[in-house]
Amino acid sequence: MIVDFDLRSDYVQIINGKSSPTSATRHGLNPATLEELPEVPVATPEDLDRATDAAKAAFKIWSTTPYEDRKKAVLAYADAIEQYSDQFRDLLITEQGKPIFQATIETESAINWIRGMASLPLLEDVIEDDESKTVITRYVPIGVVGAIVPWNFPLLLATGKIAPALLTGNVIIVKPSPFTPYGGLKLVELAQKFFPPGVVQSLSGDDHLGPWITSHPDIDKISFTGSTATGKKVLQSASRTLKRVTLELGGNDPAIVFPDVDIEKVAEKVAFFAFLNSGQICLNLKRIYVHSSIFEQFKDALVRQVKSYTLGDGSKDGISHGPLQNSMQYARVKTFFDEIEKQAWKVAVGGQIEPSTGYMVTPTIIDRPPDNSSIVVEEPFGPIVPLMSWDDEAEVIERANNSDMGLGASIWTADLDRAARVARQIQAGTVWTNDHFNLSPTIPFGGHKESGVGVEWGLNGLKGFCNVQTLFLKKSV
Ligand code: NAD
Repeated sequence: MIVDFDLRSDYVQIINGKSSPTSATRHGLNPATLEELPEVPVATPEDLDRATDAAKAAFKIWSTTPYEDRKKAVLAYADAIEQYSDQFRDLLITEQGKPIFQATIETESAINWIRGMASLPLLEDVIEDDESKTVITRYVPIGVVGAIVPWNFPLLLATGKIAPALLTGNVIIVKPSPFTPYGGLKLVELAQKFFPPGVVQSLSGDDHLGPWITSHPDIDKISFTGSTATGKKVLQSASRTLKRVTLELGGNDPAIVFPDVDIEKVAEKVAFFAFLNSGQICLNLKRIYVHSSIFEQFKDALVRQVKSYTLGDGSKDGISHGPLQNSMQYARVKTFFDEIEKQAWKVAVGGQIEPSTGYMVTPTIIDRPPDNSSIVVEEPFGPIVPLMSWDDEAEVIERANNSDMGLGASIWTADLDRAARVARQIQAGTVWTNDHFNLSPTIPFGGHKESGVGVEWGLNGLKGFCNVQTLFLKKSV
């Protein structure tokens, strides 16, 4: 184990390799129990200036460090996180509310994402090579990256930005969500054992900090994951200094279910991907379209699945679904439950939020609400999902595409040719057939339409942390 590193206390922000206390502090809440969690710093504009100064100095060293040395340090960092994976998992359960098995998967993925991206060769491309010249395209680091992380996957979405930024020679300032600061701060603290001061820094703040980062002249790239509404503000703010931006935003993923599926098997999977993380994943299935000929049977199978879920404190054994992460999200999701009566929506299962200590919301399916209802058009980001029926393939593709969002989608059918044919007609960054939410650090991920700008992960993701440089190398003077 590493000397001077303990996940149980001292949640500090790191500027230029050192803990940087602030006079003001704040704290998070355990969303299952509403217990107050330890104090964390509240960064000031001066903290941000000190961090960007340190980052600019560190960039000179890190960007010229050979790729193999950067990769070695990044992989050693992944090994260190793995040594502490149980503690990172427990912290994640406490601050985010995830059940144990999901927190385990996120922690493992946070490590695997570092290793996976370190396995990608970011080579120079030789575009032309003739007697007179060689033309090469290189991918050079951009500079200081500001990483803005949401509260639903605080570990994975932090390492998913740290690893590609560092591998490509950038330096990074990580801002965790104020709702889930603990794991992100500890990831950056641990990174100090592997990288020179200023290469990986953290700032912990309140709602002011994000806008300060996106408007700061010494930040060169913003890697943002969060809501579409905030993403638009980020883009606007970053435009003033022409920062590079990658935006991973909201989703409203459709599932299209054909009549030839194994109903029990597919309903189990569709329910799983709709309610995983209590509906707080950008890639949850948020609109389920089932062919009318199997609609009632499929609905019954979905309802059976949902009734088998156990809602509660994620730290307890046997809990399949945890609370919503925060009061703001809880209040927003409640508005969709309020609509049930007002709009006379039919409820297939759930429908009532039961009183509880934490932010628990009963998994709920709305039976065939109108296509223009808020539950179909908007992203609730909670465990309430609309189920619709369809008759005609062209019509259901049109309805699936009739959204401002375009993050993911899935097609469920035993006819694999049809699956591929329909998949190609869907407007989304990732389309799965007979699967969903299957991600990898070596595969690019991003949204179409208002679900994002650019991609992260995979080779394309690494290139997103780079400027493209073309070299014309003449072979004679
Ligand atoms: P959010 O947009 O409220 O916050 C995300 C981050 O942005 C937080 O760190 C927050 O402090 C910061 N922030 C808030 N206002 C800001 C501003 N004006 N300028 C800069 N930063 C600001 O999102 P959230 O509620 O934390 O996360 C949920 C949303 O994120 C959902 O819409 C979900 O679909 C989306 N999401 C997308 C992906 C993806 O990869 N596409 C992954 C996870 C979550």
